[in-house]
Amino acid sequence: MHNLFIPFITLVLITACSNQKTAGQQSADLVLYHANIITVDPGNPHAEAVAISGTKILKAGKNDEILALAGKQTDRLDMKNATIIPGLIESHAHFMDVGYTRMKLDLTAAQTWDEIVGIVAAAVKSAEPGEWILGRGWHQEKWNRPPDQQVGGYPVHTKLSAVSPDNPVYLTHASGHAVVANANAMSLAGIKTSIPDPDGGEILRFPDGRPTGTFLENAEDLITGRYETDFSHKSPGEQERYDEKAFALAVSACLENGITTVHDAGVSFGTVDFYRKMMDAGRLSLRLYVMLGASNQWLTEKMAGYHMIGAGDNHLTVRAIKRFIDGALGSHGAWLLEPYDDLPGSYGMNTTNLADLEETAQLAEKYGFQLCTHAIGERGVRETLNIYEPFTKNKDLRWRIEHAQHIDPADLPRFASAHIIASMQTNHATSDGPWVPGRLGEKRSREGAYVWRKLLDSGAVICNGTDAPVEKINPMRNFYSAVTRRMDNGQTFYPEQAMTREEALKSYTLNGAYAAFEETIKGSVTPGKLADLTILSDDLMTVPESEIPSIRITGTMIDGRFVYQASGETE
Ligand SMILES: [Zn+2]
Repeated sequence: MHNLFIPFITLVLITACSNQKTAGQQSADLVLYHANIITVDPGNPHAEAVAISGTKILKAGKNDEILALAGKQTDRLDMKNATIIPGLIESHAHFMDVGYTRMKLDLTAAQTWDEIVGIVAAAVKSAEPGEWILGRGWHQEKWNRPPDQQVGGYPVHTKLSAVSPDNPVYLTHASGHAVVANANAMSLAGIKTSIPDPDGGEILRFPDGRPTGTFLENAEDLITGRYETDFSHKSPGEQERYDEKAFALAVSACLENGITTVHDAGVSFGTVDFYRKMMDAGRLSLRLYVMLGASNQWLTEKMAGYHMIGAGDNHLTVRAIKRFIDGALGSHGAWLLEPYDDLPGSYGMNTTNLADLEETAQLAEKYGFQLCTHAIGERGVRETLNIYEPFTKNKDLRWRIEHAQHIDPADLPRFASAHIIASMQTNHATSDGPWVPGRLGEKRSREGAYVWRKLLDSGAVICNGTDAPVEKINPMRNFYSAVTRRMDNGQTFYPEQAMTREEALKSYTLNGAYAAFEETIKGSVTPGKLADLTILSDDLMTVPESEIPSIRITGTMIDGRFVYQASGETE
């Protein structure tokens, strides 16, 4: 083991002294040359070649000087002018859900409610009686005509129940903030007319009080909780096989998309145990930065025992907490300062009460955890800032607001001044854009919706993600949204708030690292940092804007080793 440590220490010393000449004496294990390397390192923004020693970057620079670091044992790879960027950091996704979603009915492309009913009807044919049927990704705003029967803008269960009388069904909204269930699922879950709305949730009802099948925000748990209870009755082996399949699907989805680190936005202690198991089995090939999603009681009891930084050679870190102050805009759950334009009298929902969140903030500080709070509406953002500021004002706590979608102009400077990170998903702006002004009105949308330009100009740090599986995990589509704000309908959503390409790349790399206290080991192609790299088919900084979404990920490297290579792209 000792001989492994000596070069490592030498490398650290060399980097610390910035002694470029001495670095020349170290020989590389791998050299990638004839490349177009966008390093995101302000001291050395562009390079032609990179030398890798072990799991770390030795040096990036001109072809000649880097090839000079190659010895007899060094592998040399001619990149034929491919573009290399630092390994992408997906700063907000739901890792296991990325896998589970691939095991559920995909409803994202459905154009009508009837089409969704048809997809379920087909699935019923091959299901065992009583087996749960799950789907995900429907969005009523994306349908080209409304359902024949609807309540509150949502479909009712009648048709779904008719095609699936013997199988419980629930279908999750694209945002994850609503489900539609059929009669069988509702009856299993004990849903009756007399059932009250839970705190922070709503059961949509017919005029006579019967539930319509749509459950918003915390009311979802009535249905999903019943499914989970049934799932927990399966044999441990069956449960584990299901989870392992989802895990493997999630890993490959990330690697195919050039993602080397995922910030996992809210998981249970049990999921962390599972990740640790996968790590010990050598199956955690990418890096996870995990936010714990749990009640204060559970946090108090267990969080200290789960704090871990860089376990498994920097593959698993648990040092953050995820909470929710409100819901989503699409389901009218985002907590607003003024009522919704299209739902007069409604201000949205406060899903975790403020005293509870304040207590989480105290726990986070006490146990050295970063706090990440989902806040979408302006009221949700303001209340979160109010809770954070006394903690963060004079300390480097890097607490985050997840989404920070709608910000009242008065609150905008508070991000930078209190060192609070805006963890945003640039593709939400272009997906939601067509209907945001309907919810908020034109003025409020223009002044406060997805205001990246204003935040960056104020000095705030934005880290970027996709919220997958809410949106596709595809980073080039997300990068395109960041720099164009162009929606699928061809129009742009307040394009004056776009990022530059440099800013967008930084939000996906160095800022993601910063938002996880990892900027000294990740986020740029810099000597001493982990050799995590993403290889692209084209130069995302110079191709015409319209070509950005078709840039392909041709390779993904973690720890100096290729973990993904697109077919036909290998040497
Ligand atoms: Zn999320």
